[in-house]
Amino acid sequence: MIEFQNINKTYRVAKRQAGLGNAMKALFSREYELVHALRNVSFNIQEGEMVGYIGPNGAGKSTTIKIMCGVLTPDSGKCVIEGRTPWKERIPHVRQIGVVFGQRSQLWWDVPVIDSFELLRDMYKVDKKLYKNNLDELSELLDLGELLKTPARNLSLGQRMRCEIAASLLHNPKTLFLDEPTIGLDAVSKIAVRQFIKKLNKEHGTTVILTTHDMQDIEALTQRILLIGKGTILLDGNLDQLKKQVSERKTIVLKYSGKAPKICVGMTLTEAKEGHLVISLEPSVLQVSDAIAYLAAQTELLDVSVASITTEEMVATLYKEYSI
Ligand code: ADP
Ligand code: MG
Repeated sequence: MIEFQNINKTYRVAKRQAGLGNAMKALFSREYELVHALRNVSFNIQEGEMVGYIGPNGAGKSTTIKIMCGVLTPDSGKCVIEGRTPWKERIPHVRQIGVVFGQRSQLWWDVPVIDSFELLRDMYKVDKKLYKNNLDELSELLDLGELLKTPARNLSLGQRMRCEIAASLLHNPKTLFLDEPTIGLDAVSKIAVRQFIKKLNKEHGTTVILTTHDMQDIEALTQRILLIGKGTILLDGNLDQLKKQVSERKTIVLKYSGKAPKICVGMTLTEAKEGHLVISLEPSVLQVSDAIAYLAAQTELLDVSVASITTEEMVATLYKEYSI
């Protein structure tokens, strides 16, 4: 269980004005500015949950993760993870958690990946047998094989990310923090990473907290999302329910042969090409089945698909609504 309560975090940043003269002045009399990265941030996460932590750049996601990992100490507030306060009990804490920062590596650059793993085993004091079992399982699931013998600097981003994820799990953590784990990955690697995380959560009951800008990660992995903007939690809820709250609108994509059908009240035309229409429908005005019947009566329909608002559209609407 993760309890994160009324956490505040500010960074002190040296103020700098442009120009060489100002840079010189700043060397002698530093002025500081406070950046409020987190303001009274609160949430609880239960064991075995998978949570998508989303928000625009600079919202405070990485700061939150760093506090939960014990890397940063907040100015005020309470954070208890499985009974531990991360920044006060850092060493026992890191033995129980796994962390992957998509933009930073925990592997030693110039040595074969397996050597980094051995070092981590030593650092975390993982029992030899447990390590061997975990390594075998992770190698198989993440298809590490030859990669283990390769220095990290020679791996592609997708290969390295698979190794990073394995590295974060060698000590069997109960909780896994993933900060943008799919950033920059190609489509195939993204799918591999998603499938692995899903399986890990399902089979080992690992709690997963994931930050990402890729809404397909969210769709594939999490039911619950936490939205943060400018250091404040704005929403905490179920993805499908949020989508419905944001918009009930449906998009109807239609292929027809012959004459273009006319639209009626409740429908808005968003795209029209020869033989192809995209219609936005307000179901509270006109039901989907009635709308399709209305269109079908006018022309020969070759293909129809009906879709709800996508996660990306929902997030874009929320960012706009909250001006974040
Ligand atoms: P996110 O991960 O959501 O993009 P961050 O937690 O990295 O956001 O940053 C939140 C805010 O704190 C931003 O305004 C960022 O510029 C600032 N910030 C983050 N790290 C530091 C730091 N080490 N020093 C000063 N400001 C920082
Ligand atoms: Mg970040």
